Amino acid sequence: MRISIFGTGYVGLVTGTCLAEVGHDVICVDIDQAKVDGLNRGEVSIFEPGLAPMVRANHAAGRLRFTSDPMMAIEHGEVIFIAVGTPPDEDGSADLQYVLAVANTIGQHLQMPALVVDKSTVPVGTADKVRATIAAALAARGVQVDFEVVSNPEFLKEGDAVNDFMRPDRIIIGTDDAEAVETMRRLYAPFVRSRDRFVVMDVRSAELTKYAANAMLATKISFMNEIANIAERVGADVEMVRQGIGSDPRIGWQFIYPGAGYGGSCFPKDVQALARTAHQHGFEPRLLDAVEAVNERQKSHLFELLQRHYNGALAGKTFALWGLAFKPNTDDMRAAPSRRLLEQLWAAGAKVQAFDPEAASETRRIFGEREDLLLCDSEYAALAGADALVVVTEWKQFRSPDFSRIRRELADAAIFDGRNLYQPDEVEAAGIAYYGIGRGRSI
Ligand code: NAD
Repeated sequence: MRISIFGTGYVGLVTGTCLAEVGHDVICVDIDQAKVDGLNRGEVSIFEPGLAPMVRANHAAGRLRFTSDPMMAIEHGEVIFIAVGTPPDEDGSADLQYVLAVANTIGQHLQMPALVVDKSTVPVGTADKVRATIAAALAARGVQVDFEVVSNPEFLKEGDAVNDFMRPDRIIIGTDDAEAVETMRRLYAPFVRSRDRFVVMDVRSAELTKYAANAMLATKISFMNEIANIAERVGADVEMVRQGIGSDPRIGWQFIYPGAGYGGSCFPKDVQALARTAHQHGFEPRLLDAVEAVNERQKSHLFELLQRHYNGALAGKTFALWGLAFKPNTDDMRAAPSRRLLEQLWAAGAKVQAFDPEAASETRRIFGEREDLLLCDSEYAALAGADALVVVTEWKQFRSPDFSRIRRELADAAIFDGRNLYQPDEVEAAGIAYYGIGRGRSI
């Protein structure tokens, strides 16, 4: 099938590449000319495991093309995806300017009937706005072209996006148009392993499903952080509690890890946007508001542990940070807990020596060159001359470090483990003070 995709970010590029991989003829369009030029040279600006070779192979095979010319993409696509960003507006609601700009562009150039598929995460009712925007642009041209708007929210995880797209848990299609369902079924047939993974529903339910999924996952994280904070105060170890509850299949093992708070481009903004939608409809979303408030507090937790250990005297200290990205296997720094910590440490007069396997250049782009930030080439280089180590992101390579080397390098020999990667006894046996999240002895 002939597919066009607006937006070549994490979602658009993975979608386009995976659709090309199964044989569809894909054009990806982006307004960022530098990104388009890079992709045409085979350069993938985001880090996503397995993506770059797949982009290059499908580009070379001619099934995946990149352009900044929206007209070319609109002429090409029998199915046109919208996969542009929906960042939070000032009041927390989703900013739809990019989505509606694409809808307007589609209306300005559409010549042949097409199915417009909204893959961006958008508030309930957005499909109606997209439909109205396209219709208005067509009317302004004085032409009539058939089109349908379908909601098809994306559930891929950064860090495992290609895998998630190729083997989805479910594909959600929101439409009441039978022909649109058949088109989407054909498009996704190579990815659907069993019929019940292809779930068709009305548009509004599909739009809400995406927010419900992210809000549920964020709730699990905030819940565990709440339990961790209680554990710290009552002398319990949240890691034991986690093992004690995860085996209950009603609870499950996933997303019950306490830590330094959730970040990324989705959970914070989607929880806020859903709460905003509820408020706009006169309903107070108490649970969602609490999920966000707990997370905001949790993002300061590592800093508070540091302050307590040093009796508030952080000025002049140097901290080694392991991990900057909001989670492992990505270079994404959007709403990363590390950003809050960096800013708090700098405000307190401390310096940071940080290492992240993928997020260094993104960090440099965000914060620029600063005297109080040294980006290092390895986790051990970050330790040299530092007072203590703070683990912020749970990259695999941080899981089994050489504790005696850490002991030798650090002036103060203390680890603040924001992801509970280590066993307190093992760290302490190496002569290092240990602070984890919710491990009974931090307070
Ligand atoms: P992103 O910021 O990485 O990429 C968006 C891209 O759209 C950018 O390259 C930008 O230049 C481009 N763009 C903006 N306006 C455009 C226009 N008019 N025409 C063409 N391109 C345009 O965003 P993302 O992380 O891929 O997220 C996209 C959407 O998918 C968001 O709504 C997000 O909430 C949702 N989503 C994201 C993830 C994720 O893990 N990142 C997962 C599921 C859903």
